[in-house]
Amino acid sequence: AKIRVGLLFGGRSGEHEVSINSAAAIAQALQTGDNANKYDILPIYIQKNGVWVAGDTANEVLDSKAPLATEETNPSQLWQFPTQVQEVEVWFPVLHGPNGEDGTLQGLLTLMQVPFVGSGVLGSAVGMDKIAMKMAFAQAGLPQVKYRAVERSQVWSNPCIFPKLCDEIEADLGYPCFVKPANLGSSVGIAKVRSHSELETALDSAASYDRRIVIEAGVNARELECAVLGNDNPKASVIGEVTFEGDFYDYETKYTEGRSQIHIPANLPEKIVSQIQEMAIQAFKTVDAAGLARVDFFYVEETEEIYINEINTLPGFTKFSMYPQLWKATGINFEQLVDQLVQFALEK
Ligand code: ADP
Ligand code: MG
Ligand code: MG
Repeated sequence: AKIRVGLLFGGRSGEHEVSINSAAAIAQALQTGDNANKYDILPIYIQKNGVWVAGDTANEVLDSKAPLATEETNPSQLWQFPTQVQEVEVWFPVLHGPNGEDGTLQGLLTLMQVPFVGSGVLGSAVGMDKIAMKMAFAQAGLPQVKYRAVERSQVWSNPCIFPKLCDEIEADLGYPCFVKPANLGSSVGIAKVRSHSELETALDSAASYDRRIVIEAGVNARELECAVLGNDNPKASVIGEVTFEGDFYDYETKYTEGRSQIHIPANLPEKIVSQIQEMAIQAFKTVDAAGLARVDFFYVEETEEIYINEINTLPGFTKFSMYPQLWKATGINFEQLVDQLVQFALEK
């Protein structure tokens, strides 16, 4: 009999639309070639208000790639799951950012006692929170740019430790530096700042997104990405590079066609390639990731310095996304990749 795969997509995050596009590509790949004989898919759409819908409605969203408009809902509705949920034999969550990539959904699926693709609660949560992630990487000896972690309460303090805090950060990290809410993705809420007043504004704005905030010293570097696949014995792909016009790889640059380019494989000395691959696998193990992750790096060419930037435990997964493209160049095509991911979920 075919294995029933619950394809979960949409979700309560700024990356709702990206999720629909990733899920459409995965749905198609699970219905192509050998996969069509192996898998039945049950698409389940998590609306922007958090309510789950299956059946025709979910299929229409996948086909049209257009989100459904929803109204805020009463929390009790969030526990009314469609009956199709009971038929799922393995989940394939394709949700990016908060409430999908951060361990919350993984906790729910763990309680359901049904296997799922990707990292569990710990790997997802540590991978999502940039402060926890950096602490784990530091402990593992992975090189990172200099950073500071601050809390919202320090930024919104009354009367005023805030100006002193900004002075300290300025002295520590210099300019430019990057201010980031700790628990987002797709560059949402990130600011590049070049002065004391910009720093104050950026911290205030980041505090409106998250209780936890990271500030990093800016580096002038190439941006390299490595895909990791597997469970206990994960493998690293070839390395890809992202280039773009503009100040940094912000939300608009990421999602406006033609604004950024992917280069696979990145033009790099062999020695750097293998160092990055080793670091990617180490990062994957350090946060306790599983199944898949994309690990991103900064590479300063002149000094040959490599810094790990972040791990993404549910990276973008459209046909054009870096993660599947990296595996394609490594010898695993899109259909094979989704098949392997489901198999890794079942063996976990
Ligand atoms: P997200 O998880 O939202 O992708 P990142 O930490 O990857 O957040 O930051 C998004 C982008 O901001 C990076 O791809 C890069 O272009 C820029 N950036 C972030 N931190 C730094 C830094 N310390 N130095 C230089 N550029 C940075
Ligand atoms: Mg990220
Ligand atoms: Mg990033």
